[in-house]
Amino acid sequence: MNDMTIFPTLEIPETLAAGPGPGNTDPRVLARFAQTGLADHMQADVLRGMIECKKMLRAVWGTQNTYTYGVGGTGFSGLDCMLGAILPGDRVVAFVNGTFSGLDGLTIRMKAATRDELRANPLDPQPASVTIISVPHGQSVTGEIVDKALAEAKPKWAFMAHWETGSGRVNDLRGFSDACERHGAMGLVDAVSSLGIADFAIDDYPGVVGWASCPQKGVLCLPLTYAPVSFTDRYIAEVRANGCHSYVHNPILEARHWGILDGQDVAAGSYHRTHSGYAVAAFHEALRLTLQHGRAQRARDYAFHEKALRDAVTTMGCAVSSDMTSLVVLNLPHRLAGREKELVQNCRARGFGIWPTLSEPVQVRIGILNQLSQAAISDIVDRFATAMIELGAEVDMAKVQAVLARHYGVAAAAE
Ligand SMILES: *Cc1c(COP(=O)(O)O)cnc(C)c1O
Repeated sequence: MNDMTIFPTLEIPETLAAGPGPGNTDPRVLARFAQTGLADHMQADVLRGMIECKKMLRAVWGTQNTYTYGVGGTGFSGLDCMLGAILPGDRVVAFVNGTFSGLDGLTIRMKAATRDELRANPLDPQPASVTIISVPHGQSVTGEIVDKALAEAKPKWAFMAHWETGSGRVNDLRGFSDACERHGAMGLVDAVSSLGIADFAIDDYPGVVGWASCPQKGVLCLPLTYAPVSFTDRYIAEVRANGCHSYVHNPILEARHWGILDGQDVAAGSYHRTHSGYAVAAFHEALRLTLQHGRAQRARDYAFHEKALRDAVTTMGCAVSSDMTSLVVLNLPHRLAGREKELVQNCRARGFGIWPTLSEPVQVRIGILNQLSQAAISDIVDRFATAMIELGAEVDMAKVQAVLARHYGVAAAAE
């Protein structure tokens, strides 16, 4: 006898994922996932799909970098691959202005720590070679901050998140890249939240040698697929010269399965690990959708709809402190202050998936990934207003509706 229980089939409801990510996956992407045939990871169409993904990803990201491909897994898988070039004792300056850059800073400290430094504090090492520059929650990392820190520390590597999803802040990519060039540092960027939303091209930022993103935010391909990465030749030369402590997330070896060998595109990939034809087909469709929408148009659409949501919640008495276009981070009106988590819980219990901040201070985060329509934004606004009213807020719904009507009416008139 054993007490093994077979549980009933797992049913997971459809919710409105209106947080920082994951975003709602397009039915076209889900269809490719579900309708793809069983084929092994060396079957010709799977390999062709990976080559096509690589090429589309270069277009989405505006780069000629040969080493542009997907790392199987989540955003942190791609970041682990990118940050793997940092070796014990390397001098690094990392800029932290929220939850995610904070976790990236932890990864960097783990990788740069010497054996003694790691043993001294295994889960939170404090290596002497790493400088963490903390920028207060709610503020952006500016070019001046980066320039000053790099001038002082003269590090080998510099790290910044492009869009810090924890606080909803856009950091100064131009200032970061320029400062890296000026001070001879190799820039590494967490572009998890900006790829597929912001209109930017990697090749316009020559100070940055490594980029890492994720499947489930701007690229909208949650069925656990690929974390996009892109590396310049300089970055790859560094890994080639010094190595890295990983087989699976090795930036050079992982690229082989995507048909990148010795710095060149080759006709078909060679085995690195067992890729899934289902994931390849879904990722392929998500990239097709992104390119069909167009990088610039997509960025304009996010900015337009974020403004509608921002104006609506401001009219409800909330104060917005973010400047990302896929996410609104806000403080509730004074009389609801301290009840952020309760409000978020109430919403989540009804399948309206908004989020609190994951590090202090507590704020509310509402995202609009793949919710780019007047109907979708109005639905989010209605649900949020209902939850606020339930907690005792005074919300003038007529005024909120008027703000939305004006925003979208103006747009209709302009067409
Ligand atoms: C979401 C996010 C991550 C983590 O991505 P996962 O897919 O959860 O691993 C890292 N950095 C930033 C900026 C993010 O927004």
